[in-house]
Amino acid sequence: MSPDIKSQTKDELDARFAEWAVPPYRVEQLLHWLYVQHVTSWEAMTNLPKHLREKLSEHYSLHSLELARKQGARDTTQKFLWRLSDHLLIESVLMPANPVLYGDASDRHTLCVSTQVGCAYGCRFCASGLEGWKRNLRAEEVVEQVLAVERWHRQSAECGVRSAEYGMQSMEVSRSEIPRLIDNLVIMGMGEPLANYDNLLKALTILNARWGGGIGARKITISTSGLAPQIRKLADEPQQFRLAVSLHGATDEVRNRIMPVNRKYPLSELISACEYHQRKKGKMITLEYILI
Ligand code: SF4
Repeated sequence: MSPDIKSQTKDELDARFAEWAVPPYRVEQLLHWLYVQHVTSWEAMTNLPKHLREKLSEHYSLHSLELARKQGARDTTQKFLWRLSDHLLIESVLMPANPVLYGDASDRHTLCVSTQVGCAYGCRFCASGLEGWKRNLRAEEVVEQVLAVERWHRQSAECGVRSAEYGMQSMEVSRSEIPRLIDNLVIMGMGEPLANYDNLLKALTILNARWGGGIGARKITISTSGLAPQIRKLADEPQQFRLAVSLHGATDEVRNRIMPVNRKYPLSELISACEYHQRKKGKMITLEYILI
């Protein structure tokens, strides 16, 4: 299977275009189509020469997620159920920030993305693991959750459906006038993100890059159920992503009961890994606690 174009970093594309003797500015054009225009076909990349588009399609795939169902009104939390190319389903959740609550002048949106189909960790309070783990998401499937929501947002605005909500006067809205929707990412949808470490890091590198998703590392939070070795590994990465730990219990006895991962990495190991992360990154870690 050929790699998906949205799993490729700019460095990788630069190297490939150099190999093909294609000038570097063509990479910039390609990235613009993918991450600014959010196009879903090679044909849509109209300023790329036809022979280059054909060559790209021979070496890379260009998959997009199919929206199977959307729930929720526009000004509330909205759930997107996506169908993958192998027909498995995953979910992303778009949450508007409350401007009054956060004291912000402008509204912000946070997208919660999935990293696996199903989950092997079986936390007692979570539905994601009920049917077990099916597979890891590939890097492009994580990236595409963000792009697909931006595409939905853009198409809605272009249709004028959201014109009132965004204060737009006209039904004729040009693509370049529509601001990006997503300000923050939380990696806490279906799956344990740190169990899909390499694909997650590649996807977040692309979503964080100026040439890609353009979302600042400090606006990206990775949430884990407590995979201590991967927390240490993450601490050694150069990126400044934020870390959240699903704690949900302050003793091994409680955590063992509701989060089987604790039997492998008990609190002493988890706390030690968190302290290492905090020392290396110099940042607070968010502890998540569910009230049942
Ligand atoms: S690790 Fe996360 S997704 Fe998996 S069962 Fe636990 S809470 Fe749910």
